[in-house]
Amino acid sequence: MEKLSNSALWSLCQKYGGLALAYRKKFVALLPEVEKRKLYKKYGFCSIYEFAARVGGVSERVVDEVLRLNEKVSDKPLLNAQIAEVGWSKVAIVAPIVTKENETKIVEMVKSLPQPALKAYVSQIKTVDESAYSRKPTVDCNLQSVTFKLDQETQFLLHKYQQKLERENGEPMSLGKVLKTLLKQVDQPIKEPQKRESHTRKPSAYDRFRHDNGGKCAFPNCNNPHEIFHRPNRYALDPSHENITPLCQEHHALAHAGLIVNEQSPPSEWHLRNQMQLNSIDRKYQEHVIYRKHEKFISKPDRYSS
Ligand SMILES: [Zn+2]
Ligand SMILES: [Zn+2]
Repeated sequence: MEKLSNSALWSLCQKYGGLALAYRKKFVALLPEVEKRKLYKKYGFCSIYEFAARVGGVSERVVDEVLRLNEKVSDKPLLNAQIAEVGWSKVAIVAPIVTKENETKIVEMVKSLPQPALKAYVSQIKTVDESAYSRKPTVDCNLQSVTFKLDQETQFLLHKYQQKLERENGEPMSLGKVLKTLLKQVDQPIKEPQKRESHTRKPSAYDRFRHDNGGKCAFPNCNNPHEIFHRPNRYALDPSHENITPLCQEHHALAHAGLIVNEQSPPSEWHLRNQMQLNSIDRKYQEHVIYRKHEKFISKPDRYSS
């Protein structure tokens, strides 16, 4: 062992660590079946917890989480099978949004996205759904019902504007009032944007975006600091700095998973789509750059450059 070089020792650590993690996922995925058969009793253990701890070194908390998760996804065989492949914690993240209809698309995301990006995706999708479907209708006798259909994007934009007005006014606001506010603005004269003072030096893309976004990720409503300058047109196709956009790690991963709708438009028009649409560049990006082993960010070679 002492004769091993640092790089050889590091290689062994990676190899055995990787195998240990992979086999642990497979062991944990067996626990629901062990519980169902009460297998632990047949082999002299007094509980599933003792069985899991002594045979696989798995904690009580993980046993509980996995048994609960298995109940939630037992009717989704494709996702259930991912507990053994990507691990229970990633499957648990998407469990609240999976349905029989979207299962295949969700499994694709679970396999491709790193855990923080998956969390960001699910929390944003849940926020949109909740604001779109769980509002109580307000009753006012002076109002007439008008029914019209909206596409998903318009729904999203309308609810986003509703949230903005509600935040500003500090009270709930009906969609009718939101529309009225919007329509009133149509008659108002357009304000000329204030001209900036002339600079002696043309600001670089970095200066421009650092100031415009206050150091924050450009994805709507994201408060993470930006860590990567992303090119919505992809560097390989358009190496200019024109529409370079600062993003956090999570939203950068979602962008390169083809999950952002309107990516070539200004970020205020961005929202998430319900399945991955990878182009050939992003496919390569997924494989080689974002993350390599154990689905963790190991290196960030494209920092400020992709
Ligand atoms: Zn990028
Ligand atoms: Zn972000």
